[in-house]
Amino acid sequence: GGREAGRVAVVLGGASGIGRATAEVLAAHGYQVVVADRDGTLAAEVAGGLGRPHESATADVTDEASVAGLFDGVHDRLGRLDAVVNSAGIGSLGLIADQSLEEFRAVVDVSLTGGFLVAKHAGRHLGRGGVLVSLSSLNARQPGVGLAAYCSAKAGLSMLTQVAALEFAERGIRVNAIAPGLVTTPLTAPAAAIPGITEDYLANTPLGRAGTPEEIAQAALYLCSDAAAWITGEILDINGGAHML
Ligand code: NAD
Repeated sequence: GGREAGRVAVVLGGASGIGRATAEVLAAHGYQVVVADRDGTLAAEVAGGLGRPHESATADVTDEASVAGLFDGVHDRLGRLDAVVNSAGIGSLGLIADQSLEEFRAVVDVSLTGGFLVAKHAGRHLGRGGVLVSLSSLNARQPGVGLAAYCSAKAGLSMLTQVAALEFAERGIRVNAIAPGLVTTPLTAPAAAIPGITEDYLANTPLGRAGTPEEIAQAALYLCSDAAAWITGEILDINGGAHML
């Protein structure tokens, strides 16, 4: 372990993609990691790969009892909570004219309402020096055709992050978000399979390639660390320069 030895981190959505990479990077830097996901089987596999003393938990960010129980359980079992990274997210592609209310609500439920529930219940257990990092998106401020639910929910999550940063500041808790551009993960695989989409996207990415989950995880590590002790309410763009265009 490194400087963060002994600290406890919970990674929601930790079973896949960016969350999984974040769990691995935090573990490599000395955090004790709880890999939490709606898919508890996959979360257990990821935690198993990390080995001791890391753990997994089944938790659904859209369910208040589940989120409350996750953080109460971590606090009861491990005695502390230092960092929370909320990477839970679902995609959706659909024009407003065609999208069902059910699908729109499902996306808002995971990204925005889930962000609220995580802030509410992690906030009960984070102490002075505690940190919450959420995964927003470049789409929070860059609209896309077929992305009404996703863009709107992420825009809400970015604002929620800043309100939480204000409210938690007096308790010495920092709250930030990362806004990635296109990152190669299971989430983006369906869109990447549509001919031309990746090429179109990368035409507006100065560095000319998609990001890796590890590149986002390194930023999560930084935001969780004491090196970022004066950063709160920040929405960090990581996108190969796409936010400029
Ligand atoms: P992913 O699909 O690989 O991983 C997301 C994880 O969240 C999965 O393990 C899934 O089971 C879990 N999850 C979904 N709903 C959940 C719920 N209700 N409760 C708990 N867990 C739940 O996706 P990813 O690409 O790693 O994305 C991680 C986050 O980053 C998401 O919030 C996504 O919107 C955001 N993001 C991704 C990209 C990208 O290009 N991949 C870009 C910008 C933002």
